[in-house]
Amino acid sequence: MSARPHILVAGAGLAGLAAARALTVEGARVTVIDARERVGGRVWTIREGFTGGQHAEGGADLIESEQAAVMSLARELKLTLVPILKDGFGFYGMGAKGRRSVETGSRQLGRLFAPFWREVEQYRRLEGRWHSPIAQAFARESVAEYLTRTGASAAVVARFRSLRGFFLADPEDLSMIALLDFLATDGFGGDGRTFRIRGGNDQLATRMADALPTRVRLRTVLRRVEHRDDGVIATVEDRSGHHAVSADALIVAMPATAVRDVVFAPGLPDPQRDAIATLKYGGATRVLLQFQSRFWVRRGRPRAFGSDLSTGAVWDGNEQQRGRGGILSLLAGGRASDELVMILNMEGAAGVAERLRWMGPLSALVASHVVRWNDDPWVGGGYAYFDPEFDPRGRDLLARPFGRICFAGEHTSVRWQGYMNGAIESGRRAAAEARLLTAMV
Ligand SMILES: Cc1cc2nc3c(=O)[nH]c(=O)nc-3n(C[C@H](O)[C@H](O)[C@H](O)COP(=O)(O)OP(=O)(O)OC[C@H]3O[C@@H](n4cnc5c(N)ncnc54)[C@H](O)[C@@H]3O)c2cc1C
Repeated sequence: MSARPHILVAGAGLAGLAAARALTVEGARVTVIDARERVGGRVWTIREGFTGGQHAEGGADLIESEQAAVMSLARELKLTLVPILKDGFGFYGMGAKGRRSVETGSRQLGRLFAPFWREVEQYRRLEGRWHSPIAQAFARESVAEYLTRTGASAAVVARFRSLRGFFLADPEDLSMIALLDFLATDGFGGDGRTFRIRGGNDQLATRMADALPTRVRLRTVLRRVEHRDDGVIATVEDRSGHHAVSADALIVAMPATAVRDVVFAPGLPDPQRDAIATLKYGGATRVLLQFQSRFWVRRGRPRAFGSDLSTGAVWDGNEQQRGRGGILSLLAGGRASDELVMILNMEGAAGVAERLRWMGPLSALVASHVVRWNDDPWVGGGYAYFDPEFDPRGRDLLARPFGRICFAGEHTSVRWQGYMNGAIESGRRAAAEARLLTAMV
């Protein structure tokens, strides 16, 4: 590395903070900015408003044991991982007999995905090359079109709709390539162990930020980037106005939706700009409901359910915490996001709670909190998903450095897109790129 390069990191979510942490260890001087008044981005623990010192996650919640970068970072930061949701996810929704029912057991998912195995095999032959014509053919078809073409029953369609709590996209909006990619790499096929950070997932971010030699500059927005062969001059805006920040390299660790608003001079190459401009972000509304008692807990039944209902997926949001009361966490993804907002507007949190009677006899609703990620000005959705309009050749370009500008963030990850793990790995990758680029002075 050349004499202490200065790297500017825009975005203090897990991607930006992981990049800053890696570069600091390597001896670089790092400036981190974030538009919000807090670090963590889409990792946000909600503590206010709940009684009995309880809390729950407004953003990223579940840490599957396969999320190795999250698991090891948690250990590095001396955070405790608590096992949760030991009985996995069940399903509540339209069953084969045309009636709503509760289904449990993991065999149901295997059966659901079985018809796809021929396509999955074909997809595997691509070895992840999304520029292949085969990839393009898969990408153009939506999951709904595939299900119609193959004569799937209403019950099967309902099960696929329930996956909007995971992909944040309904079958009509999700490209087949996204589903096949998921099935080919993991497809809920891990060891089934899931964790949360004791005390709140946001500590992953706050502890990384606290360990940096320089404080993160909050409420500071990246507006414009001029770049040359030897560095960048960024225009950032804070409460006192616009300022120029010079750096040897820039890591843009912001969602693609926010990158679109930044002016690059000279501009990004057209195909890269198009990929960033056309990437979709899924609708996501999180509702946290604190009840006087955990009426949903029953021996031998999961504490988590996917569903095709407007209330979305629902699970125990704080089983690791003490107290008689407990918090149910609802995630309405894709089109359910707006449907749930409509219920909230008309009937309030109590109306949402009423719709959960299938989980057991309700106890009193004590507190509630709603996070509408679609309305969040710094992301405008939950996380990225690939729709049939997205040109799969653009996927690589989301992460491609341009001059001294490197890109990080959940959406740039190939294996872990949509996860905390993807954000952390992408930040480390971008840090390595910035290091190499600045060593070339
Ligand atoms: C509702 C929900 C549920 C989720 N559930 C899970 C889960 O259970 N498990 C899991 O692993 N993952 C989950 N995720 C995904 C996970 O939260 C993300 O993948 C990850 O946190 C993204 O990190 P990031 O650093 O890429 O982006 P972000 O966290 O969005 O960080 C980007 C930062 O950039 C800042 N920024 C934006 N524009 C500018 C600008 N112009 N200038 C300066 N700063 C700017 C933002 O303020 C933000 O802090 C969930 C996400 C959501 C929304």
